[in-house]
Amino acid sequence: MKEISKPKAISDYISEVIREHKTVGFVPTMGALHKGHLDLVRRAKQENDIVICSIFVNPLQFNKTTDLEAYPNRIEKDKALLEEINCDLLFCPVKEELFATVPHIEGIPETITSVMEGVHRPGHFEGVAAVIARFYELFIPTKAYYGEKDFQQVALMKWLVGCLNINTEVVTCSTIREDSGLALSSRNLRLNEEEIKQGSLIFQALLFCKNNKETYTPAEMVEKAKQKLAPLFDVEYFVIADENTLQAINSWEDSAFPRAFVAANLSGVRLIDNLSLIP
Ligand code: AMP
Repeated sequence: MKEISKPKAISDYISEVIREHKTVGFVPTMGALHKGHLDLVRRAKQENDIVICSIFVNPLQFNKTTDLEAYPNRIEKDKALLEEINCDLLFCPVKEELFATVPHIEGIPETITSVMEGVHRPGHFEGVAAVIARFYELFIPTKAYYGEKDFQQVALMKWLVGCLNINTEVVTCSTIREDSGLALSSRNLRLNEEEIKQGSLIFQALLFCKNNKETYTPAEMVEKAKQKLAPLFDVEYFVIADENTLQAINSWEDSAFPRAFVAANLSGVRLIDNLSLIP
């Protein structure tokens, strides 16, 4: 696996790739890689000539310094994992060099910024859009791969390619979970064994919503789900929304594609997840 950290070096590498008419799959990550990330890289390997994985803990997308400082860093282990699955290139930029020019992305739709993660993490999506736009500027990928776990982020990524007027295809990959149902996340490294078990309650609350649509209205469902989580979790939001508009629904008739979304803190670790409520 090739490793590059300089933006100039990656531009040179990409010029060569373009000359050879090769397709480029891109998997942006913040490192501390787990099976969810590796699944994206494997899918990208199947569908492209070259796969680039980036590891960059983007300070622009953290609205809390404590969260940024506590973010896990396991670069040597990450490199070994990427080598094992034949990732072609690891791009690990240095903040100052990457952001020598920071694209300022304007006009992110309010349907994304005014709900859920947009409300609870002010500035988060602007920070994500800026770094991804910078990556795309350096190596306009044929396809870019994102996890459904960050469902709102996928909506942002689909909007961003239109905003930048590029042809990159946004590919969404299913959420990879522990056997217990807890969605894999780099942040899970900050949970102990007991807390990992408790974390599965989030998935159980989502499943409860999927399995009881006939019995409760969306509002009643949200209350029940919050009650399930309340003793252990500090719930930031639990929302049932249409998965295309991301807007909360009041009745099941309001959406053909309802999805439950949750963000909850367990022992100070912020976990997010979502699940389609369609059987
Ligand atoms: P992160 O390193 O958390 O920024 O995530 C990098 C990419 O991996 C994003 O597209 C995430 O949505 C995706 N991802 C994170 N966790 C999972 C998971 N459990 N299953 C599938 N994709 C994931």
